[in-house]
Amino acid sequence: MEHPYRGRQPHPHTQRSSSHRIGATSTMTVTSSVFTDSDPYPDPDNIEPLDFLVVAPHPDDAELGMGGTIMRMIDEGMRVGVLDLTSGEPTPHGSLDIRKRETARATEIMKLTWRGNAGLTNRAVEATLPAREHIASFFRCLRPRWLFAPYHEDAHPDHVAATQLVEAARFHSKLSKTAMPGPRHHPQRIYYYFCIHLRLAVQPSWIVDISEQWDRKLESIRAYESQFITGRDPGPPSLTDRFRDDAAYWGRLIDRQYGEPFATKEPLAMTSLRDLI
Ligand SMILES: [Zn+2]
Repeated sequence: MEHPYRGRQPHPHTQRSSSHRIGATSTMTVTSSVFTDSDPYPDPDNIEPLDFLVVAPHPDDAELGMGGTIMRMIDEGMRVGVLDLTSGEPTPHGSLDIRKRETARATEIMKLTWRGNAGLTNRAVEATLPAREHIASFFRCLRPRWLFAPYHEDAHPDHVAATQLVEAARFHSKLSKTAMPGPRHHPQRIYYYFCIHLRLAVQPSWIVDISEQWDRKLESIRAYESQFITGRDPGPPSLTDRFRDDAAYWGRLIDRQYGEPFATKEPLAMTSLRDLI
């Protein structure tokens, strides 16, 4: 949530492998020669395409913004991944090791198909050309049908930059005659989840019923103890009470207990009206 700057530190997931450069054979796991703190790109020959990939500026944003929907879709048999752009550190009560453990715990609760970290620098995310190619390389190797990015209006510069980066990398991902690993791939749609730092009265495009997933969503949020519990005002309301209140508000708008809102720039395409509440 808060990311006071104390300088760049090595990423906990670091798997430096200077011999694994872009352009290595397709059966090898490769990693960017620029973003050395990044996890390696998954081998496209050894991973089935994802149904959707959630791109999160920091570990915890995917859980906060759409953890219920992620778990609902996994419950229904979809293959879902999360790509965290940065380590999220430093923060007042976190450390690289703590965040790594917390992220692993949340990943286990959500039963994600895949999770990786792109090794960009916290509080310094920018949609540069190297960053675009780097994120597009993950898209090409994971081949998600849809992408989920943070909502485009936010106070946190990393979130705003992440949205721009996902949109640019989506286009880059389909380019031919490039050194990027993996096959050309163009995710069909980008949708936007809300994990915003502004007190906005947002108007979502749709809301997903997450009533059955709420308890597990809260558990996944609580996994990030250093961010949402340690040092926080115990309330009432506590920070987690606020998250529940938000989910109940969105649920009430669709006559359900809990909900999660989403936005889309392009019109929604539907094959049926069956799932409309
Ligand atoms: Zn964030």
